Amino acid sequence: MYDLIIIGGGPAGLTAGIYAQRARLRTVLIEREMVGGQIAVSDVIENYPGFSSISGAELVQRFEEHAKGFGLEIKAAEVEGIGVEGNIKVVRTSEGELRAKAVIVATGAKPRKLGVKGERELLGKGVSYCATCDGPFFRGQRVCVVGGGDTAVKEAAYLAKLASKVYLVHRRDKLRAEKILQEKVMKTENIEILWSHILKEIKGENGVEAVVLEDLKTGSQKTVEVEGAFIFVGINPTTDFVDVEKDDGGFIKTNQRMETSVEGIFAAGDCRTTPLRQVSTAVGDGAIAAFVAEGYVEGFDG
Ligand code: NAP
Repeated sequence: MYDLIIIGGGPAGLTAGIYAQRARLRTVLIEREMVGGQIAVSDVIENYPGFSSISGAELVQRFEEHAKGFGLEIKAAEVEGIGVEGNIKVVRTSEGELRAKAVIVATGAKPRKLGVKGERELLGKGVSYCATCDGPFFRGQRVCVVGGGDTAVKEAAYLAKLASKVYLVHRRDKLRAEKILQEKVMKTENIEILWSHILKEIKGENGVEAVVLEDLKTGSQKTVEVEGAFIFVGINPTTDFVDVEKDDGGFIKTNQRMETSVEGIFAAGDCRTTPLRQVSTAVGDGAIAAFVAEGYVEGFDG
């Protein structure tokens, strides 16, 4: 039996792994895809202290090397559920069951879909949720970016370096993104912000050819020719497999000690209810979760 099972290998999970190893807890980290989480596909990170500019891939590679340097065991598997047998947590995975005294859920979140016509049909044919992955395919072409948060604005700035024209489509007349990111897109010549517009449909046969937009102020619709449609309208947490108290969006509720409604199950990073989802906050959550879990494991009465 393990002392601690960490589910998810993004910044929160890897940080929890570093702290757990240093606390000499018998720990395993389970990750279903590649280690790194969402940040691994982020083009550039400019607000993680100590690195004025670093790619997401390089930052997570450093996190992983750091955690492995302390001997963290990392297993590739998909977690299907967490059962509770007395005080013991039973983590059911695609590779079998694992048991532990405590569990930290650090499974992050996935991009939300718009649910419009053409979005699913043209996925991978011009519709994308990852500018770093797909941006280079749109060199010299026209793209639209939907959303007004940090992701949309940041990725619009990145895409403007490759595409000939970027339409930033936002449903309000004010962006939600950090001010410094807003200033950047406002200053970029080939970005046109379409305020108070929503995307109604993505058109195309074998690839994206145009998007139909609606002006919410006038109710009028127009078709704009683009070869790519990038959608960044927020995130959904990956928390279905765990039965603890959650908010309306499915994010796990914790207290400031990262404790969930079930004793011995902790949550850290983007998957929990929190006012800010950054690498720096995920790292802080992971450290607290591992520290509190250590105390829980020490006082554990099986
Ligand atoms: P977000 O902050 O939730 O923003 C989502 C954006 O999409 C909002 O502008 C929202 O509009 C819009 N939206 C939502 N549903 C929509 C719909 N159905 N149709 C049209 N527009 C819709 O999500 P995010 O940008 O993915 O960021 C997620 C978290 O990661 C945030 O906490 C963010 O700070 C963090 N993050 C940080 C950085 C960084 O470098 N600092 C980078 C990426 C992400 P409204 O504004 O009208 O609600």
